[in-house]
Amino acid sequence: MNKKKRYLLILSLMLTVCCTLPVNAAARFKKVPADMRGAVKVSSAAIREKKAGRSRALQKLRFGEKIRILGQSEKWYEIKKGSVKGYMKKSDVVMYNKEKKHIALTFDDGPGLKTTPKVLNALKKNKCRATFFLVGSSINSSTGNLLKREAKLGCETGNHSYSHPLLTGLGSAAVRSQFSRTNKNIKKYTGRTATVCRTPYGSSNGSVLGAAGCPHILWSVDTLDWKYRNTGRLISYVNSNARDGAIVLMHDIHMSTANAVDSICKNLKKKGYEMVTVTELAAIKGKTMRAGRTYYSF
Ligand SMILES: [Zn+2]
Repeated sequence: MNKKKRYLLILSLMLTVCCTLPVNAAARFKKVPADMRGAVKVSSAAIREKKAGRSRALQKLRFGEKIRILGQSEKWYEIKKGSVKGYMKKSDVVMYNKEKKHIALTFDDGPGLKTTPKVLNALKKNKCRATFFLVGSSINSSTGNLLKREAKLGCETGNHSYSHPLLTGLGSAAVRSQFSRTNKNIKKYTGRTATVCRTPYGSSNGSVLGAAGCPHILWSVDTLDWKYRNTGRLISYVNSNARDGAIVLMHDIHMSTANAVDSICKNLKKKGYEMVTVTELAAIKGKTMRAGRTYYSF
């Protein structure tokens, strides 16, 4: 290559880089496939005129309302609702495939220092989300990072009391303290409090639920993973009992359960499921969740 040719080559390379950079920066909204939909996953949200939290609200939406998603950037969706076109914050919306079935995997009694990382690795590998019902007394400086990882993966944090007692044997003040102490620990590591709760042993009554003051999430698929501690049994149990809208109960403090999560995710994906959090499942199914009420599936 002579000197002139080399000069021209370098010049054309520089021009290519300089001209494509602004174009890519401008085209920040990536197109979303036509079978994807959005559902509002917070109690109230707004369609904004511009991609800014303070821009004019074109329309207010309630939990569970559906929208068409046209495009996405890092923090915003470009959306359509009836004749209204605008923008919504990604954190207010769950995007899902309307052709798929949806299920919520839930894990109780964690965080577990050795077992929970394995569950999180499997969820990440399979691009799945789950809900973790945490025991407040297990949250400390060594397990705190696991809560951060859960949140980063888009998983939901649930409150499973502070010391896992039978709450029906406690007075209202003690029940309130069980949930508030756990929320304090959750907030310390995630910056947020739990969105849902689950009583230990699923044991509750009106006064417990009144004192807990959160949507009470039980389950429709009881794997009994804590009793059998058998990875193969758990994988086939979830595989044959999964249903659209189901909530699956497992425990992320057992290695036999942690070892099953990769296969569970793979099998469910093969069967046409998307694995979402409890709140996302309720939103996708267009249901509401109220504090003090118990939900088994959506
Ligand atoms: Zn438990």
